[in-house]
Amino acid sequence: VSPVPSDIEICRAQTPKHMSILAEEIGISSGEIELYGAHKAKITLDVLDRLKHRKNGKYVVVTGITPTPLGEGKSTTTIGLVQALGAHLNKVSFACVRQPSQGPTFGIKGGAAGGGFACVIPMDEFNLHLTGDIHAVTAANNLLAAAIDTRMFHERTQSDKALFNRLCPAKKGVRTFAPVMLKRLTKLGINKTKPEELTDDEISRFARLDIDPDTITWQRVVDINDRFMRKITIGQNPTEKGQERQTGFDISVASEVMAVLAMTTDLKDMRERLGNMVIGSSKSGDPVTADDLGIGGALTVLMKDAIKPTLMQTLEGTPVLVHAGPFANIATGNSSIIADKIALKLAGTEEGVESMEPGYCVTEAGFGADMGMEKFFDMKCRASGLVPDCVVLVATVRALKSHAKEAPGITPGKPLPEAYTQENLALVEEGCSNMARHIENAKKYGVSVVVAVNKFASDTDAELELVRKAALAAGATDAVTCDHWAHGGAGAVDLGKAVIDACAKDNEFKLLYDVDLPIDKKIETICKEIYRADGIELSDLAKEKIDLYTRQGFGNLPICMAKTQYSFSHDPELKNAPTGFTVPIRDIRASVGAGFLYPLCGAMQTMPGLPTRPCYYDVDLDEDGEVQGLF
Ligand code: ADP
Repeated sequence: VSPVPSDIEICRAQTPKHMSILAEEIGISSGEIELYGAHKAKITLDVLDRLKHRKNGKYVVVTGITPTPLGEGKSTTTIGLVQALGAHLNKVSFACVRQPSQGPTFGIKGGAAGGGFACVIPMDEFNLHLTGDIHAVTAANNLLAAAIDTRMFHERTQSDKALFNRLCPAKKGVRTFAPVMLKRLTKLGINKTKPEELTDDEISRFARLDIDPDTITWQRVVDINDRFMRKITIGQNPTEKGQERQTGFDISVASEVMAVLAMTTDLKDMRERLGNMVIGSSKSGDPVTADDLGIGGALTVLMKDAIKPTLMQTLEGTPVLVHAGPFANIATGNSSIIADKIALKLAGTEEGVESMEPGYCVTEAGFGADMGMEKFFDMKCRASGLVPDCVVLVATVRALKSHAKEAPGITPGKPLPEAYTQENLALVEEGCSNMARHIENAKKYGVSVVVAVNKFASDTDAELELVRKAALAAGATDAVTCDHWAHGGAGAVDLGKAVIDACAKDNEFKLLYDVDLPIDKKIETICKEIYRADGIELSDLAKEKIDLYTRQGFGNLPICMAKTQYSFSHDPELKNAPTGFTVPIRDIRASVGAGFLYPLCGAMQTMPGLPTRPCYYDVDLDEDGEVQGLF
């Protein structure tokens, strides 16, 4: 169709299948699916148990070169590829994508359902509340926040004994510990199960968490770009008796609860992780956890439905699992381990069943490959034990041009400068160094790399061919131009075939670093090997944090770098394939429940703001009650 209609016109022209039909097509039984209306359903984790004997299908991660602020089509390519595999090449194939946050949807970026003829439908449902997972994350996060300040309030106004008596109330004359308290007793080395057995000293140690307010890292969250909540003062009502404190709000998807959802492997594991989340330290320097506050079980109850991925479909009726949406800098920026595991089993094979051939789980890693892919391998695959078969590296002519020295800048919302809409082989060629470095990096992990050159209408054949040849010269397993945005799955058939061939090759997947290395060595390895920095420079604060986390027993967690996606370096202005820089590590923070440390290479914004002209101006209901402008 020329010109390609708007995303919403395309999506509205397609009638989605009922979820019960899709579920049956992909081998999910009626007991394993919970319908949320006609076009969304949750998949229960029972399916993993039923299919545990299966050999996993092929595991493909879609990532990209260093992007422009416009995005280079990772989501669109993820969807285009599964449409090609599923609807044109007759392979069982799943897309695993993140749930979009309401912040960007109503802010600057708009929705995240792909685009053109490669998208998830119904787009409005995908971009709105979905099945409530982000709301559950918000609820769990804020329950914990309320618990922290309330506990400090009660500790301030009560004696140790009074606190203890209230924490362990007498029922029919007998005091008991709540089951969650046993963990705290073990942590304190108190091997007693009955409250009356505790000595006065043990009562004090047990009852008083003695949280140091200056060390609290747990913030409140809301899934809105509400910049005025970045810093707030709480406790101003007289009922709080002067217990005021400065704190702030993050956007919900930046919550550690979201990171836990993305990294967890089953319900029991999620319970552990939620309970282990550290909210700050006691005045004597010990980490205080959610379970110390007695709340790990309640958080798990709030999250028990969120742990189930949501099934939706592409424009061409192939399955999509939507699950989790952690921030891409202070967290992994990848969708969930659980969704990938389910997709890999549903796309898996059974011994002795000749007719079954392996299907494909295509999962997306946010940001450029230096961030998203590195975290996919070193954090997500490390935690899940899953072995990837192929990397798809999305490149665009416009992003490659943007890496050339003479290239003009790109401003979202403004027309692209001429250099980007007219053929300019010199700019493309110069920018190919960026792509080459990402290819070399992917190969360090021992995995095949297929470059997907995502075609835009103004790209010329000579430009596209130049990128393809440069990718092969840099060592890509294959490189193909794809046009799924304009032609749907049919436009990505060559990409599909290249991925099938790449997955058939033998890989020797290896992780970049050993978690048992000291914290600074792990950071240095990522900076030198992936970013190609000369080294790192730790601030005094970062050094203090290394000492603290090592002392607290968190030294062997993997590293989640928090840096810009617009450069291999920490500086967004350093384009292409920079060398000769040192990465400054300003601070290091811990997400102990989610299971990683995150070094900050600059100021990281965890609560975005709204522009003068946000996307919400376009959003409304039309006369038929259909959502307009939410894409
Ligand atoms: P990413 O996932 O890398 O951020 P997206 O897939 O969300 O990128 O794409 C960013 C935007 O560019 C979307 O609006 C999408 O519709 C659009 N887009 C992607 N590929 C093409 C293409 N080949 N031609 C035109 N627009 C495209």
